[in-house]
Amino acid sequence: MEDEKQSIVLFPFMGQGHIIPFLALALQIEQVNTNYAIYFVNTPLNLKKLRSSLPSYSSIRFLEIPFSSSSHGLPPDSENFDTLPYHLILRLYQASASLQFKSSFKEAIQALTARCHGRPPLCIISDIFLGWTANVAKQLGVYHAIFSGTGGFGLACYVSLWLNLPHRNVVAHDFSLPDFKEGTVQLHKTQLPTNIAEADGEDDWSIFQRENLSAWVDSQSLLFNTVEEFDQIGLSYFRRKFPGLHVRPIGPLVLRLKTRDRIGNTTGVITRETILKWLDSKPSNSVLYVSFGSMNTISSSQMMQLAKALEASQKNFIWVVRPPIEVDINSEFNGKEWLPEGFEERNRATGRGLVVQNWAPQVEILSHRAVSAFLSHCGWNSVMESLGHGVPLMGWPLAGEQFFNAKYLEEEMGVCVEVGRGKKSEVNSEDVVKKMEEVMEEKKEIMRRNVEKVKETMEKAWEQRESFNGSSAKSFHDFLSDAQQNHQQTSDAKEWREMER
Ligand code: UDP
Repeated sequence: MEDEKQSIVLFPFMGQGHIIPFLALALQIEQVNTNYAIYFVNTPLNLKKLRSSLPSYSSIRFLEIPFSSSSHGLPPDSENFDTLPYHLILRLYQASASLQFKSSFKEAIQALTARCHGRPPLCIISDIFLGWTANVAKQLGVYHAIFSGTGGFGLACYVSLWLNLPHRNVVAHDFSLPDFKEGTVQLHKTQLPTNIAEADGEDDWSIFQRENLSAWVDSQSLLFNTVEEFDQIGLSYFRRKFPGLHVRPIGPLVLRLKTRDRIGNTTGVITRETILKWLDSKPSNSVLYVSFGSMNTISSSQMMQLAKALEASQKNFIWVVRPPIEVDINSEFNGKEWLPEGFEERNRATGRGLVVQNWAPQVEILSHRAVSAFLSHCGWNSVMESLGHGVPLMGWPLAGEQFFNAKYLEEEMGVCVEVGRGKKSEVNSEDVVKKMEEVMEEKKEIMRRNVEKVKETMEKAWEQRESFNGSSAKSFHDFLSDAQQNHQQTSDAKEWREMER
């Protein structure tokens, strides 16, 4: 039998960019209240990785659901989209949705309930791409919340695009998004992720997204890793479009674990210690950090231009590299072929740059005084980590809602300058150098001031000095109260039914 604690079940989608904010959420819940038993649901390989990376102080538990990648047409042992080429990503999404039919998730929750003396979990918090779990929770009488690791504005644009495919009805390259105040959100066709640009409403991506989003109505709460004060346009979109859901920003949730605790790969020869020592040797505010997140990469010609720009700019830099899009993502990085001749040797000799393969200790890098700016794909975890450490961004969105994050950060928040767009666009090293100078020199002061304001807002959001005065702390408290109320009502109703029998 399990202990007497109430359980909270977390179910992230199978990708590092999703698992990381869920882990941050789990650790935050543990910190706020130690009276909950937190269960992380996922497939065997993801849980195996996670188990070895949890900090020793955490008491998170695991619920494994069986998964055979090959029976879904995926390569053996593929349970995470970080190791999949683009054309197989949709298959992982479809495979995740099939978990509802095999009842394995439902059975796992029922087994947990039985182990807890028949007491169901307090709530199930699942990923934005696992909408079907809301229906399972409904069947079991458990409170359900969707947790978005991405921000309100980015996700609002993404959802609006999938629900309406507005770009299909216009010839022009610019168009406005429906469901927002007329003309307030203007997009350009180059800002569309490939699957949305190619969607016609009947393709497999559209079908997956339509089914996923329509399943959200069975949920009760929509939690965001963002802050009310700077994300109102996006949050109010969800309040209008999903009136049955309580929309609750509870960010920033940032995972502050050391590299060896992280869940990425560290195949490169440069260690965490080398990177931190190298940063220590650099002047304050002098280093550009370049990374495209846990799963994305750019084309070989873009890589060449970016390398030339880094060299021509004479800035200090750390660049996390992965093989270009033309090559198998799991292959070895070949600097001789994909970088200018002698690039790595010259940088080693001058000490100006570090080229790190696959994975770097991002949060530690961003928190170092030497870092001046972050050239990022604008995945939301990276954005929150950067802003939370007062570091302005250079945006180079590549997929998903990253295009809209970059747009919002630049146009509404003044903390980012877009430097590239997409994996296929032409990039010219001279333009990139100009943008580097803009962010790291000409606009440095104003951007730093803007970022500092955002950072302060983020710090205040979780303030709990006198009860719950921070907006995220209050939102989170309200969410837990709702779940408790629902739990109480369900158990009262159950008792009543038993008495009547
Ligand atoms: N990350 C890291 N080291 C790397 C690349 C990524 O620690 O070399 C972490 C990063 O700190 C962030 C996450 O992986 O927490 C990436 O999430 P994000 O939303 O930025 O992008 P995604 O990987 O989902 O595209």
